[in-house]
Amino acid sequence: MATVKFTNVQKIYEKGHTPAVADFNLEIADKEFIVLVGPSGCGKSTTLRMLAGLEDISGGTIEIDGEVVNDLQPRDRNIAMVFQNYALYPHLTVFENMAFSLRLKKMKQDEVYRRVTEAAEVLGITEYLTRKPRALSGGQRQRVAIGRAMVRDSKVFLMDEPLSNLDAKLRNQMRAEIILLRQKIDSTFVYVTHDQTEAMTLGDRIVIMKDGFIQQVGTPDEVFDYPANLFVAEFIGAPKMNIVRTQLIEENGKFYVTPFGSRMEVDGVNGQLLKERGITSRDVILGVRPEHISIVEAGAENTIDSTILVNEMMGSELHLHVSTSTGEKLIVRTPTVNLSHEERNKMHTGFPLHITFPGKVMYFFDPETEENLLY
Ligand code: ADP
Repeated sequence: MATVKFTNVQKIYEKGHTPAVADFNLEIADKEFIVLVGPSGCGKSTTLRMLAGLEDISGGTIEIDGEVVNDLQPRDRNIAMVFQNYALYPHLTVFENMAFSLRLKKMKQDEVYRRVTEAAEVLGITEYLTRKPRALSGGQRQRVAIGRAMVRDSKVFLMDEPLSNLDAKLRNQMRAEIILLRQKIDSTFVYVTHDQTEAMTLGDRIVIMKDGFIQQVGTPDEVFDYPANLFVAEFIGAPKMNIVRTQLIEENGKFYVTPFGSRMEVDGVNGQLLKERGITSRDVILGVRPEHISIVEAGAENTIDSTILVNEMMGSELHLHVSTSTGEKLIVRTPTVNLSHEERNKMHTGFPLHITFPGKVMYFFDPETEENLLY
């Protein structure tokens, strides 16, 4: 059992400078997998390091299982941490690397053996126990680093960008392994990454940070469908959400948007919500995800005329970078399943594309505050 609670936690590295972490509040449930995500420098690692006890806390409290740990040494916090660079001892075997912290605690030999071999079994590295780290691949080293944390029976598992040194294929594989591992370890996890895909696939809940401030906390579905502000909207989802400043027009209880000289109705839940919130005609920042743009026949009403700049063939889908007749850039994502080889090949640079935004799936942000108007 391990809950974690941050209350008004703050970190100021240098007096007079803006805080690296400002007023961080979060309650993490027992066995929850929390991902801290955001661009480089937003304060993720600092938050994790304060929880681990590797960094002093400038203000507020951190509790583990109801106990304030602000002044506890890292070793007394019952926490295990896996770092980006693995920090394995090169002169020790895999077994001894995993056993290291247990030896320091003067644990009995048979108990050390039991813990190390059990963890190695779970991680599938039993056959490498007698090797030195240099004789392992990046993925195997990664597993040793995780194993070293596992043997300690820690209450909370901390991981700081554990996959960022791996190549793309291995990263995907290890991501899946972490999901499986998590089911076996049955512990509370706090995981730091700058990669939104990792955050979306691993987290029970995601904490999105920017400039030391939490922007939003929610499940992957929540932050994707209901981003609190423009920053979250653009950060979550790949390729990134398309953004355009435009006018929202209310006429006889119906709503329209007018990007790039077009006029498209906002219907469905969005239309309903705009009405319920009492929103009338105004300037907005309109957001539309690449997968929500439809390609339509030439001559259809209220479409946007565009030209393909770049066609990225991703296998199951195309990412079409297009330029509108008014010179704005958009990204359109379309599945390849219904396109023949010939149809796909026509879509090269300069090919005209008529597109429209379905009114059900649009996002509206205040141009001043950048808050989601329907959040
Ligand atoms: P992230 O993990 O999101 O990349 P960090 O937590 O490492 O961000 O850093 C947050 C901010 O704190 C950054 O502006 C960074 O430059 C600053 N910072 C990090 N470590 C130190 C340090 N030891 N001394 C001074 N400033 C630091």
